[in-house]
Amino acid sequence: ITALPITDLAVQSHCPYCALQCGMLFGAGSPDSPASVMGDPHFPVNNGDLCIKGWTSTELLRHPKRLTSPLVRSRGELRTASWDAALDAVADAIIETRDAYGPDAVGLFGSGALSNEKAYLLGKFARVAVGTANIDYNGRYCMASGAAAGNRAFGIDRGLPFPLADIVDAEVVLVVGGNPADTLPPVMQWFDRQKKAGGRLIVSDPRRTATARAADLHLQGTPGSDLALANGLLYLAIEEGLIDCQYVADRTNGFDAARRSALAYHPAVVERRTGVSEADLRKTVRWLGSAKSAMILSGRGPEQQSKGVDTSQAYINLALALGLPGRPNSGWGTLTGQGNGQGGREHGQKADQLPGYRLIEVDAHREAVARVWEVDPASLPRKGLSAFEMLDSAGSVGGVRTLLVMGSNVAVASPDAGRIDQRLRSLDHLTVCDAFLNETGSLANVVLPVLQWAEEEGTMTNLEGRVIHRRRVARPPGGVRGDLEILRALADRLGCGPKFAFDDARSVFDELRRATAGAPADYSGITYERIDRERGVFWPCPGEGHPGTPRLFADRFAHPDGRARFLPVADRPAGEEPDDDYPFFFTTGRYKEHYNSGAQTRMVGPLVRARPRPIVLIHPTAAQRHRIVNGSRVTLESRRGRIEFQVEVTADVRPDTLFCPFHWGGEHAANRLTNPALDPISRMPEFKLAAVRIAAVEAG
Ligand code: SF4
Repeated sequence: ITALPITDLAVQSHCPYCALQCGMLFGAGSPDSPASVMGDPHFPVNNGDLCIKGWTSTELLRHPKRLTSPLVRSRGELRTASWDAALDAVADAIIETRDAYGPDAVGLFGSGALSNEKAYLLGKFARVAVGTANIDYNGRYCMASGAAAGNRAFGIDRGLPFPLADIVDAEVVLVVGGNPADTLPPVMQWFDRQKKAGGRLIVSDPRRTATARAADLHLQGTPGSDLALANGLLYLAIEEGLIDCQYVADRTNGFDAARRSALAYHPAVVERRTGVSEADLRKTVRWLGSAKSAMILSGRGPEQQSKGVDTSQAYINLALALGLPGRPNSGWGTLTGQGNGQGGREHGQKADQLPGYRLIEVDAHREAVARVWEVDPASLPRKGLSAFEMLDSAGSVGGVRTLLVMGSNVAVASPDAGRIDQRLRSLDHLTVCDAFLNETGSLANVVLPVLQWAEEEGTMTNLEGRVIHRRRVARPPGGVRGDLEILRALADRLGCGPKFAFDDARSVFDELRRATAGAPADYSGITYERIDRERGVFWPCPGEGHPGTPRLFADRFAHPDGRARFLPVADRPAGEEPDDDYPFFFTTGRYKEHYNSGAQTRMVGPLVRARPRPIVLIHPTAAQRHRIVNGSRVTLESRRGRIEFQVEVTADVRPDTLFCPFHWGGEHAANRLTNPALDPISRMPEFKLAAVRIAAVEAG
């Protein structure tokens, strides 16, 4: 990749992938496509840094496997078709299903990759054009537990309630179950500067990740023991007199109940449960509790569990007890993963939410949105099925029978992926909107080829709550259409055209601004022009004269009384624990070269060459016990599936734990082993913890 000089011709935009939404400068190449890309040195999130995924992202734009014509299944085969024929087939399927089984038999599955405008319009399409309750998105697999915990404790969910740059002046940062060195690499510049300024980094992770290697202290606990660890830290904070009593009294409710529940977590008990020594527990809480500024940052590790909301709450309890949220360079936050994981969950593509984080079960919220949509509030559906539950209901009596998936490769990304594969096959009709024919599209009746990120404009909201503008920097190939145009064409066919008569993303955003006015995630003061001028605007932003809100909670929390809530939380077993038959913990994660289900990154040559397939990590003692040698092939088996992998023997994992990335489908699908046990509040599946057994594959 050739680095460009910065010239007036370089166009600013953003990366297609993760929640940092790194600023990029696209250089003028041919009229059809930017020739190259470089990090934008003036975008204050990445300051010019990009990871390997960002550097290689333009390969997607002129990829030979790019879909450029709709596909419609006929006589068992996906065959090219006209747009009219394909859209008619989708609309006919929706109408037939709705007539035969009612509107809730139609499901819509969205994505944290969709722009704010698309997420908003998909939510409106579900509720107004189709009339179904069943819309949800793949953020339910990603952020749902951290989001639910933030809402419960603070009255609002914004992944990070402060800009990333605040990390630099945090004396201590505890990262729990996150590996930004691989998942959000440019973030490491902030940690490097924090450490150079004398700060300390603690990482809690069952694996010795690249981030853990950069830490001053690594807590390598048992998978699933994060909640016990947090409660143990709270116990020690109380014992060591580190509680910020003034803050607790002035700014919070419920400390006594949380304190009583933490008293069961004596260090000896926690050491046994987590495998983390009492000395390291004490060091952690002393560092956090004696610092003038400290942060607890959560990744998917503690969140993707069937107790993910309570686990997140346990870390929030600790942060509140130490008086961190709202203090400068301090607080609790969660490192959102998907490009628009934050905005995607704010604008109505979740089963329980309407735009602006309004709640679909609250009458006043329904009325506010219905006014903007010019519909009767009583006509809006109520709360529908969550992501996994919707897919799991597919084809069954009372379940979803026609499904439209936009921007998500659910056949790979879902837990117990073999079961979901069968469910998708049992649908009456499946439509997939995507730029490539991925594993989900291969099962579809209709595939609609869509524009990619650099070919259309829209807004995204990064993990800091900063709303940014993705510009159109490349001309799309002929034959593809934008998701907004597709929704408009389908709404026309469903007799709702006038309510979807938007000319472009900007006109959708104007309605989104009105629909979120006065809501928790208020975008009413944000305009494309402001975003361009200010290099992003933080929500809430309740008026064009409002400066936006980079930092939340300085004076009050978002609950009506302005106070944050402690909640007592207790450890409990995972949905499945290792036993004699399945003696290992199995946990999943990511490579720095691949993004989520790999639908895009498995198309990019340099990324595939660097990481062609997943490799299972096993500790040397476990490998020896099972007569497994480095580089050999093994089978991993859970109660749901059996997959053959290559193995790497490494002390980076615990002797009781096997690790494998989940970016592949089919014969390499780690998610064929994972457990769909759901958190009772967030409905987040337990990706981080299943029980498996391992066996060497006998040679030839
Ligand atoms: Fe930045 Fe994420 Fe893109 Fe990498 S994938 S360049 S970290 S936005």
